[in-house]
Amino acid sequence: MPLVEMDKVSKMYRLGAVEVWAVRDIDLHIEEGSFVAFVGPSGSGKTTLLNLIGCLDKPTTGRIRVGGFDVAAFDRTQAAQFRGKNIGFVFQNFNLVPVLTAAENVEYPLIMVQTRPEPERQKRVADLMEAVGMAGRKDQFPDQLSGGQQQRVAVARALVSRPKLVLADEPTANLDHDTAYSIINLMKKMRADFNTAFIFSTHDPRIIGEAEIVITLEDGRLVSREESGRRVHA
Ligand code: ADP
Ligand code: MG
Repeated sequence: MPLVEMDKVSKMYRLGAVEVWAVRDIDLHIEEGSFVAFVGPSGSGKTTLLNLIGCLDKPTTGRIRVGGFDVAAFDRTQAAQFRGKNIGFVFQNFNLVPVLTAAENVEYPLIMVQTRPEPERQKRVADLMEAVGMAGRKDQFPDQLSGGQQQRVAVARALVSRPKLVLADEPTANLDHDTAYSIINLMKKMRADFNTAFIFSTHDPRIIGEAEIVITLEDGRLVSREESGRRVHA
């Protein structure tokens, strides 16, 4: 079953009398466990598309299914519950909570839903800190970590509820090239270890080559889909 299915999806924002079509007529299928980049210049619709997949916004026309669910039909509460269970997010600015340690930041989404007992939470957090190479810094606060280290913690946090999908909007935009490359490769490793699909956006041509599926957007339209590596889907 495809993880993400979009059929003729368009999104229009109204700015006064002006209609801005941020995303136009997109057909897109993404399989479970995929490693996908959304590429295109600023304003091409990458963030809008990620927000639609992440149930943070609804399409103006067309249909979106994530994990088989018609996510556009959810009300706000249903969308929030669906996100909490099924989708992890990584942000350009890391968005860690400054008063929590690295490990506490990773644990935070589990504390919010309160469905896991304490020992299981601790184990899961410890395993993830190890997996992202941050076990030795688990008690440090975000401002004691470099940007790359903060983003490693953010990747761990995105995975803590074991989502099927992680969405990362320009996760490397604030990182130097070597660090950007290491974060993309960390996400790729996590994809393999946890069988989680990752979709990230970027306009950095140097890291695009790390994606297995590259979806190029221009002016809200999907202009190409290139696939490499093992996973090839029509
Ligand atoms: P990207 O992430 O590729 O830079 P966006 O999805 O942010 O592109 O934006 C696509 C287009 O939609 C741009 O023209 C942008 O100005 C417009 N847009 C995005 N969000 C809004 C909004 N909330 N209101 C009005 N226009 C918006
Ligand atoms: Mg954007």
